[in-house]
Amino acid sequence: MAGVPVSDRPRFDTVRSIFEDGAVGRTVRLRGWVLRGRSSGGLLFLVVRDRTGSVQVTAKRDVLGTEPFERAAQLQLEGALQLEGTVATDPRAPGGREVRPTSITVIDVGAPYPIFHDQTEEFRLDKRHLVIRSQDHVATFRVKAELLAAFRRFLAAEDVLETTPPILTGIPAEGGAEAFQFDYFGRPGYLSQTAQLYLEALLVPNERVYALTPSFRAEKSRTPRHLTEYLHLEVELAWCDLDQLMDFMERMLIAAVTDVAKACPKELKQLGRAPDELERLAVPFSRITYQEALDRLKAKGFDLAWGADLRTAEEAALTMEERAPIFITHFPKELKAFYMLQTPTDARTVEAADLLAPEGYGEIIGASCRETDLARLTERLVSTGIDVAEYEWYLDLRRHGSVPHAGLGLGVERVLRWMLRREHIRETTPFPRTPSRHTP
Ligand code: ATP
Ligand code: MG
Repeated sequence: MAGVPVSDRPRFDTVRSIFEDGAVGRTVRLRGWVLRGRSSGGLLFLVVRDRTGSVQVTAKRDVLGTEPFERAAQLQLEGALQLEGTVATDPRAPGGREVRPTSITVIDVGAPYPIFHDQTEEFRLDKRHLVIRSQDHVATFRVKAELLAAFRRFLAAEDVLETTPPILTGIPAEGGAEAFQFDYFGRPGYLSQTAQLYLEALLVPNERVYALTPSFRAEKSRTPRHLTEYLHLEVELAWCDLDQLMDFMERMLIAAVTDVAKACPKELKQLGRAPDELERLAVPFSRITYQEALDRLKAKGFDLAWGADLRTAEEAALTMEERAPIFITHFPKELKAFYMLQTPTDARTVEAADLLAPEGYGEIIGASCRETDLARLTERLVSTGIDVAEYEWYLDLRRHGSVPHAGLGLGVERVLRWMLRREHIRETTPFPRTPSRHTP
């Protein structure tokens, strides 16, 4: 349609408008894809989908004419078409309405569609570029878009500045173990595991900063909550202690989850989550220490020594009966990254808080106050086995106007997995990256 002025191009209606009050009897023009179809004799039943929904279309050979009817009858699942017709009531049609077309134009008749029920998960992952057209995926990625918008709204309202840290880096932010390394013109390069070190640099002039960027983890573990590429929402706040940080995380999560529940009730219900469960999360979230978590676990038959990490099974046990997220604080420092602030009253622990989602979903946010003491920071780098020389630029931040600060990292897909009750985290991202797959 190049060259045709926008005002002269044919206007198309949305499927949604067909279900508005007063639409019956109207002439509409639709374009979209075939979700289902069958023909019998001189009748063709199609369900046509556009971005706003789907509607039954009942075409008659008598009305379309034999040749156009035959062409339309060739349409495969996911074939593309446009049509003009009249909106009518039909109690048997989903939503009680259908469109009776006077003309159908085939845009792409489509090859036989290869996706149907009961195919193996491997096959479905091979065909992911087509599978993501499913109703559940469409709903999931709408909720994801809404969640990202909600986070951004909250952060703007809290006067936190969005920044753009790099993804290609010269040092692995948290030591080498889970970093993807590649050849950067003859030198080692790494895909960012976290933007945190850069956010700490951006912190000083701006005081409150965030980034919403992908993080990469060469996770060897195959679990239903680890991806090798995920979307990471990281916030860094000056003049912030652990209690203030937990208050902030709670406010942020409640704001985002409530907004999504209001904006996407239909999608949530479709995916098996009652929106009101998200709208009435009880606050404040409970806050227990690592030590208290060990005690609770002991009562449930897990006998963990002090210093043991809480893995998937332990996190699930701690949250299975919870209805709202819970904080676990004050972990042994050996379990956490080098930059976390040592607890003033206990040299064994750090000022850290993980937020665990309820119903067994486990960690969704990792947060901590950052170490400001240059000597202690250097010592922690050395004991972690990191080459201090490579982190000199980061240590500079402690030499020039270092102030108390704290930050958090939230896994967007982890939050969605919980909100949308998805068994596996890969269902929360269109093209999941896992140890066994980085295609399509
Ligand atoms: P875990 O113990 O579950 O591996 P972590 O301690 O490595 O998590 P952090 O380094 O604190 O996680 O990262 C911050 C947040 O990023 C986590 O709370 C989680 O929500 C998310 N996250 C971390 N690793 C992954 C991953 N491999 N896939 C998806 N999200 C992740
Ligand atoms: Mg990890």
